[in-house]
Parts: sequence; structure tokens; C-alpha cells
Amino acid sequence: MRYDALIIGAGPAGSSAARLLAQAGWRVALVEKAEFPRRKVCGEFISATTMPVLKDCGIAVPFIAAAGPLVTRVGVYAGKTMLAASREQAWGRALGREHLDVMLRDAAVAAGAELFAPVEVTAVRREAESIICTLDDGSSLDARTVIAACGSWNAKGMFAVPSKAASASDLFAFKAHFSGGALPAGLMPLLAFPGGYGGLVHTDAGRTSLSCCIRRDTLAAARASHGGKAAEAVLAHIMETTSGVQAALGDASLQGNFLSTGPIHPGIRPRFDNGIYFTGNIAGEAHPVIAEGISMAIQSSGLLARLLIAHRGETYAKEWKKHFAPRIRAASVFAHLAMRAPTRFASLAVIRAMPGLLGLGARLSGKAPISA
Ligand SMILES: Cc1cc2nc3c(=O)[nH]c(=O)nc-3n(C[C@H](O)[C@H](O)[C@H](O)COP(=O)(O)OP(=O)(O)OC[C@H]3O[C@@H](n4cnc5c(N)ncnc54)[C@H](O)[C@@H]3O)c2cc1C
Repeated sequence: MRYDALIIGAGPAGSSAARLLAQAGWRVALVEKAEFPRRKVCGEFISATTMPVLKDCGIAVPFIAAAGPLVTRVGVYAGKTMLAASREQAWGRALGREHLDVMLRDAAVAAGAELFAPVEVTAVRREAESIICTLDDGSSLDARTVIAACGSWNAKGMFAVPSKAASASDLFAFKAHFSGGALPAGLMPLLAFPGGYGGLVHTDAGRTSLSCCIRRDTLAAARASHGGKAAEAVLAHIMETTSGVQAALGDASLQGNFLSTGPIHPGIRPRFDNGIYFTGNIAGEAHPVIAEGISMAIQSSGLLARLLIAHRGETYAKEWKKHFAPRIRAASVFAHLAMRAPTRFASLAVIRAMPGLLGLGARLSGKAPISA
């Protein structure tokens, strides 16, 4: 059988594309190599700007029911400074990836997408009007259109992000859940600490999510000074350098284990190549400092599905750039301001004088509040 679309990866990008195409009547194959549910390195915050696509995917109501409380204030924790925007607005909510990804995948299947999992796409080749995807169980699937939504951190083969020589500035990512923390209600602070950045947010089931990125050289120094496993050294480094995290998590308990990945690959990559469309992180990845990657993944698939259904797939690469490139560039600027001491202190002084800049920064990253 020939599918109209074969989608590689059932993360937020892949499952939302699968759902939207399947409900438009396309015959869709969704191929995922991991066993779900699975946790993932991610802060889990989803911007309110993503709600229209979640509605189109039929999961807006269950998402709100399962997610953590509304994030009503953005803020910054850096050194001894703890700043929060004074105005309350509805910026979004967080939901663990073990729940969100299952919800989106099931929505795709409910709309008629055929799920192949756990199985990995190992090769893709063109044959006349078809694209043939080889799976690691020895079978193959034939499709008119292939959409690569395979993420960027462990993509292999033809989808691998070109690797660079190891560098001191490589970023490694860590994530954990905590219970019993003291993060103020509704607050999502950006963490700016020496050699890295991160975020805290209330997520589902009363948990607090801590996620961060840390430079290779800072990680090595933290391990040398704090000992223990990499994640323990990272947590000790953040607690020691960032009073707000000490206040929020000092008496909290770690739930489950720390997850890690890296180096990560922020940047803009091709969105179309030899008949294959790219969406989500593999097309373009923002520094996680803006907590917009899931939203961009879902929104970019919403854009791709809309254009494919309208027979305007050839405009996707250009439209993608218009919608997402400015956010990726803004994220890069914020990440570098956060990680370096002189710019971090200068930025804090400016934000302290003009706290409204916190909301402006959130908007530049692509967030837009709805009234709280
Ligand atoms: C520290 C950190 C914090 C973050 N915090 C946030 C946040 O708070 N909010 C936010 O919006 N974003 C955040 N992000 C970014 C977010 O996690 C990613 O942008 C998002 O996961 C991208 O979704 P995706 O669907 O493109 O890729 P993924 O979520 O990586 O999904 C890709 C899927 O494809 C599958 N796959 C890969 N290759 C194959 C193959 N060959 N065959 C079959 N299946 C395959 C994988 O198993 C995976 O399930 C954060 C990232 C980091 C590092």
C-alpha cells in the first residue's frame, strides 16, 4: 500500500502533522522508534500561542485538564537576584512529555494514522513517484510524501545533524522533576547562571520541572569541584550560584532520575530536501532558554500540514523561515546574554530598572499571553 504521507518520529512535531493530515483524509503512516510513554529532556512549558494547533489536533481540553497550573508571570533568577514581571498574564502551561507525547500520538491514531512502533526508519530512497522507507525490522513502507520529524539530538544516518569537533562551548542538557518545592505560584523564572541557563516551572501533578543547558567547560569544572555524577554536579553548581533555585528547590525531593542529552544543536537547517519535508527540531532548533521548542515543533507541523493540504508544499521552506527564524535568532541572543557574566549583570541591571522588558523578551521569543 502507498501512503500519502509517512512521518518519521512521533514527538510533538510528528504526531501533530500526522493528526492534521489524517483528519484531512490523507493515508498516514507514523513511525516511532521509542517505546512510549517516555520522559524526555525538556522543560515541558507550552506557550498559549500553541493552543490553536492543539485545538485543531483535538487535544486542547485534555491538555488543559492534565497540565500544570497557568504560568502567569515570567521572571529571572540570576546570582542573588530574583525578578518577576509585575503584571499577571496567561503565558501557557507545562505538561510532562510522558503525557503530552502520548496524548498527541493517540490523537493521530484516533484520526486514522497508522502507527508503526517501536521501529526505526533506517534509510529513505526515491523510486519514481514513491519514496521508500526501510525499517529496522526488515520491512519497508512506500509513501508519496515523507516528513522527517525525528528531532535533532539522536537523529542518525541521512538525518544526522553534521557533528562538529568537541568545543568548550558545547551545551549539554539536563532535566529533572521535583516534588515539594517552593517556587512561587504561577512563576516561570529563566535561570541565568555561570556557563549556562535553564528554567523552572510548575508542571502536572504538583511537580516542579527543572531543565538546563550547561557548557562543556563549566560542566567539567562543576564535576571537579562538586564530585558525584554529572547531573548532581550540575544541580550543586546551580544551587550554589543561583539563590532563587536554592529557595525553590532547597527543601524539594527529586522525583525519578535526572535525564541528560547533548551536545544540542541550536540553529536553522534545511526544511525541504529531495522530496522530504523537515519539521520540528530537525528543521530548526531554538536555544531552550526561550522554552519554545515544543511550541515551534507543533506550530511548524501545523504550518506544513496546512500548506500540504492546500497543495502549496513548495512554499513551506520560505513560510517556515518567516515564522520561526526570528525566534531562533532571538533565542541565540538571550542564551549568550544569560551565560556570560558581564552581559548577565548588565542585562539584570537594565531589567531591574525596566521590569516590563521581561514581558517584551517573552514576546520576542514567540510567546503571546491571553488574558489571565
Ligand atoms: C533543556 C531543555 C529544555 C527544554 N524546555 C522546553 C520547554 O520548556 N518548552 C518547549 O517548548 N521546548 C523545550 N525544549 C525543546 C523541546 O524539547 C524540543 O524542541 C522538542 O522536543 C522538539 O520536538 P520534535 O518533535 O521536533 O522532536 P523530538 O521531541 O525529539 O521527537 C522526535 C521523535 O522522533 C523519534 N525518532 C528519531 N529518529 C527516528 C527514526 N529514524 N525512526 C523513527 N523514529 C525516530 C524519536 O524517538 C522521538 O520520539 C527544551 C529542550 C531542552 C534541551
